[in-house]
Amino acid sequence: MKIFTVLVCIFGAKWAFSSGYEAALDFHCTDSVDASTTSISTYVEKLSLWPLDQLYATYLDYHRLGNGITLSGCNKYDPIKIAKIAEDAFKTGLSCLARHSESSVLLAKKVISLTENPLNELIIGCMETGDPFKLNLTDKDTLNMPSYLAGYSVACFDDRFPFVYLNMEHKVVRASGKGAAKVIFHEVLHSTGLFHTKSHKEMKDEGAIQSGDLIYRTIQCCFEGKKEFCDLM
Ligand SMILES: [Zn+2]
Repeated sequence: MKIFTVLVCIFGAKWAFSSGYEAALDFHCTDSVDASTTSISTYVEKLSLWPLDQLYATYLDYHRLGNGITLSGCNKYDPIKIAKIAEDAFKTGLSCLARHSESSVLLAKKVISLTENPLNELIIGCMETGDPFKLNLTDKDTLNMPSYLAGYSVACFDDRFPFVYLNMEHKVVRASGKGAAKVIFHEVLHSTGLFHTKSHKEMKDEGAIQSGDLIYRTIQCCFEGKKEFCDLM
């Protein structure tokens, strides 16, 4: 599926210095996140994200949205609109995961648990191509946001965790709220500790639904409405 090839994630610096983003898969945080005990339906019913703290936002460009989710760096991009896109991402993704298998329910509960530490909210950051971002290995590693990345998720051992970035200049993010919602949820799934079993490009080239991992299946099933992927979740 074409859209999937541009949903990219980075988990470590090795990616930057080697041949492609597959190397990012070297950095595992498997099982880093415990499952929440909050029921998925309870969480989704409360989901009504809205910038809560305008004063805070004015000075620091953080918008607390409620439900343990915060926007960062989004002032120039209509934070209310982005809040609604984020709400759609979480509602669509979590409600869908709740309907399928034991493993998809567990995944939804891990997503919820990312939002349950009041001192360390899940942050969705707005970035632009060329913005510097710091990678996880050393203090001096800084890269610019490459134009082909739609978003990425910081690794669980990074002190910013849980934090996902959206490249606001990427064509998928710019094209529609649905595209941006898919990128947000894709990256949030990485934050639970999930990795791709193959690169985005390999999955696209093979074109076989069996080759997709749980992230791929979730996005195809829940956001693209492709039932054949739901059957594999
Ligand atoms: Zn990914």
